[in-house]
Amino acid sequence: MARGLVLETGHAQGGRGRPRRLLQTAPERVRTVAVQLSSHDVVGEVRDFAGVILWERREEHGIGPGRPQDFVSILAAMTNAAMDHAASVPRAWITDPVILLPALVTDDSTVAAALGLGLRRTDLHGPLTEAMKHSCTPVFMNYGRLGSLAEYAATPSDRRPRAMAYIMEADGVSGGIVVDGEVYRGAHGLAGECGHITVNMNGPACGCGARGCLDLYLRLPAIMASAGIELGSGQGQVLALDELIDKLEAGDERAHTALTDAGTALAGAIATMSNFTDLDLVVLGGTLPRLYQWLEPHVDALISARAQMVPEFNPEVVLAKYGSEGPLRGAWLQARNLILDNPADVSRL
Ligand SMILES: [Zn+2]
Repeated sequence: MARGLVLETGHAQGGRGRPRRLLQTAPERVRTVAVQLSSHDVVGEVRDFAGVILWERREEHGIGPGRPQDFVSILAAMTNAAMDHAASVPRAWITDPVILLPALVTDDSTVAAALGLGLRRTDLHGPLTEAMKHSCTPVFMNYGRLGSLAEYAATPSDRRPRAMAYIMEADGVSGGIVVDGEVYRGAHGLAGECGHITVNMNGPACGCGARGCLDLYLRLPAIMASAGIELGSGQGQVLALDELIDKLEAGDERAHTALTDAGTALAGAIATMSNFTDLDLVVLGGTLPRLYQWLEPHVDALISARAQMVPEFNPEVVLAKYGSEGPLRGAWLQARNLILDNPADVSRL
């Protein structure tokens, strides 16, 4: 209460003893800032402590792959605009901006690789931090980690999974693992990066250095190339996805072969993840729900084959509750959880 994070809203008389004091969080006190970069656009948003979106902006950026300085410029402009808005309310506590990237991110700061942005290991964090107008340290996270947080929070509280994996496709395949309610980070913050599970030992070389990674079969550009469909950017990607689905519904052979390869790869990755980590739930997000009816037979084949032998290896597989907004919602949850875990970090009023 001294820090303005909770308000007393009244009393509740219990059976005995002093009446209980009712508290609720004070939405106005906190502003969370998140900026999401994709291969074609950048989205900024500011939320209050309760998760209500107070400000948002989306821009197509038109930046081609492999141009790190331009990515830094567009991220800095959007983050500064969001921070300006957050700071427009007097006495609001503003959390460090969370920057969501379609990338392998280590230690919440280093981009180790970002195929969708055409980047190898690149320092975006140093130049972005320097370009901040406000005193803050941007936190880098990949889509999958934050998406997993949003999906976990969306499961009913009496049916929370002990070990949940989230697999999403959006500018590539990423994911996250939530164990006992916490995102499991691993040694470098890379845990849950399921896009680089090897599903074909003799497959093509991947940008991560290995061969035959899930990402090479399940990422939308790979599916489109295999189906013989031109993948544009921005709105073009939505149209290409519509075209793919039209072809699948029409029984097009190349489109079905592409989805067979993608579905087989997905099933292989789920098999590896679920028995190694003993998962009880796998959530599929990003573009995967729209394609799931063609991926599902391959996942089902795995589940039913194992059901005869070791049914405990089989997780429940469900589609994500949130679409493309899941990771941004996760960014808010992440900022909120940090405050709730360490409320003393927030200044007194
Ligand atoms: Zn890889």
